[in-house]
Amino acid sequence: MHNSPAFCAGCGGKLKIIFADGRERPVCTNCGLIAYLNPLPCVAAVLVRDSRVLLVKRNIEPGLGEWGLPAGFMEWGETPENSLRREVLEETGLHCDSPRLLTVCSEIIEPYGHVVILGYTAHVNSGEPVPGDDAAEAEFFDLDSHPALAFVTHKQIMKTYLSGVSNPK
Ligand SMILES: [Zn+2]
Repeated sequence: MHNSPAFCAGCGGKLKIIFADGRERPVCTNCGLIAYLNPLPCVAAVLVRDSRVLLVKRNIEPGLGEWGLPAGFMEWGETPENSLRREVLEETGLHCDSPRLLTVCSEIIEPYGHVVILGYTAHVNSGEPVPGDDAAEAEFFDLDSHPALAFVTHKQIMKTYLSGVSNPK
């Protein structure tokens, strides 16, 4: 089973895939604890300024060398909106505010497995982007002629943004 842990988090016993609680799951052969597998929540941002969208060129896998929305995993204890502000700042050096949820979608992205992406748009503050963290470049592109996006989910989020834009700010 994908990304299945090998050992029990409760007792350290060996896990075995068996039918439990409605489907096949890793279950501890020692204490019987079920190791539930859940998708990982991520955030991604469509940030548009003067009809240009801010993208980052990824310097890590997955999607190494490809362009994508500023995005990343939520950290424990963060609200999605705070994850978004943090990721945007880390990857582009820019502050954003007033995040608005566009859509939620999911995808299998190796090596992480099943991820759920909360796609936002937000107001991006002034200043030139400076790439950081796992971004090699950060740049604004014309909305109608930007590089292809690395992930299916990022394309879906962009499409949702564009479908709702009658008066882009
Ligand atoms: Zn156990």
